[in-house]
Amino acid sequence: MTPSLTPPTLSDPLVLLRPWRLSDAEALEPACGDPSICRFTTVPERYTQREAEAWIARQHRRLADGAAIVLAIVPAGSEAPVGMIGLFGLDQGTQSARFGYWLIRSFRGRGFAASAARLLARWACETLSLETLLIDAEPENKASQRVAHALGAPRIGNIEQTHGRETITLTRYSMRCAGAPMAASDVPGCLSCDLATGRRPLPGGLIHESPHWRVEHCVGPLDVGTLLVKPKRHTTRVSNLTTAEAAELGPLLRRTAAVVDELVSPEQVYVCLWSHAGGQPVHIHYVVQPVTASLMAKHGTYGPRLQVTMFDEGEPPPVAAVDEFAEQARRRFAG
Ligand SMILES: [Zn+2]
Repeated sequence: MTPSLTPPTLSDPLVLLRPWRLSDAEALEPACGDPSICRFTTVPERYTQREAEAWIARQHRRLADGAAIVLAIVPAGSEAPVGMIGLFGLDQGTQSARFGYWLIRSFRGRGFAASAARLLARWACETLSLETLLIDAEPENKASQRVAHALGAPRIGNIEQTHGRETITLTRYSMRCAGAPMAASDVPGCLSCDLATGRRPLPGGLIHESPHWRVEHCVGPLDVGTLLVKPKRHTTRVSNLTTAEAAELGPLLRRTAAVVDELVSPEQVYVCLWSHAGGQPVHIHYVVQPVTASLMAKHGTYGPRLQVTMFDEGEPPPVAAVDEFAEQARRRFAG
């Protein structure tokens, strides 16, 4: 028997993927009766709360049986699902799984499916030891072609599939898991990714890097000497760190705090992670902030209130001073 699967919660700046809840039943209403959805899925033709709840309960059973991972696609900042994404065939004893997804009509064409597929692909490749992920799409389905493209999944041929009395030919795309983490590591529009890739200017430049992490100077209003430690891979939850990323983190935080101690001799070095911009999860980054007696005197406080005060005042540190500090820090890391 295949072990049951623990569904993850995954997010990027555009979407959040989470397990379906029975209370989501109403969100299925716009999908019911949509031929582009009902033809390939068990979404009911006619909406009733009971049918919708039964559909959600079926997805929970698939998880419990280890047959599939089925998640709700929720736009960032809202609550109600607007679609489904899943990986099916996990109980077939092969190292591959097949994507299935749909979006209600008014949410198509905005990149939600591509974002959702990237998130789920990365998680599945890392967590389920799969080798390939497949997308089977109708030849004229442009949306699915875009999803395949987003995953870097080339077309590998055609397959025949039977739905009721109908046999249709679908185009099959296949993504190799080995390529997944790299393909999904950079998210344009994410401030951290944009700074790391040079799409936005980064005062001070790269200060230090380990195989999975970067150290940069903070661009926010936390004063000169505040460093950031962030994963190279775009990830928005500490719980999503890979084993390799997590293993590097402790030693790197200690070393970064030591560099700050040596260069600033502060009263304390704060190390914290909020990564919650506008109430939305963003690319995680640890803030390593030196807090001196003069900084506390200037703002009249310390601890979280000091950071709140500095954010309220909103003064970014002067670029020349950041450049100079970054250069000193680079030399300390190298030495
Ligand atoms: Zn990012």
